[in-house]
Amino acid sequence: MAMLKVVEIGDRVLSQAAKKVDEITPRHLKLVEDLIETMYGTPGSVGIAAPQVGVSESLFVLDVSGHKKTNICHGLIVMFNPEVVSASHTEVLREGCMSVPDLTGDVRRASQVVVMGIDISGNEIIIESDAFEARGLLHEIDHLSGKLFIDRIDGPHALFKRKRYL
Ligand SMILES: [Zn+2]
Repeated sequence: MAMLKVVEIGDRVLSQAAKKVDEITPRHLKLVEDLIETMYGTPGSVGIAAPQVGVSESLFVLDVSGHKKTNICHGLIVMFNPEVVSASHTEVLREGCMSVPDLTGDVRRASQVVVMGIDISGNEIIIESDAFEARGLLHEIDHLSGKLFIDRIDGPHALFKRKRYL
């Protein structure tokens, strides 16, 4: 396993729609391992999508275990080709991203979601979640359509400076 270099805002890969994964290959399994290591190895990070390490393919990992705003928690989630089946009950909360290291923002998102995708074994999975995990799922799925949280804020007043993670 290896920590991967995270690409930052301004890199074109972050604004591209990621390609669907037709077949999960050994390369994908290695990528999943490395994404997990990169997520756990970055303080404050609860998820990362493949485009954030320069790979424009539809895949993310997420783990909100232990986060204080979490209600429902599925532990470590690995998902290929995710789709939002339903999303409701929006709320505004502060959000950050490894690819936007200098800013956080107040982002309106659904707090009740159903998401469908493929797990690491190639099986279809459906995840129903809420609160912080729902936000994480939507944030990562946004990465796969080339969107960052800053694309979802109401305006500059909803952006805040933050210290870089070192
Ligand atoms: Zn992000």
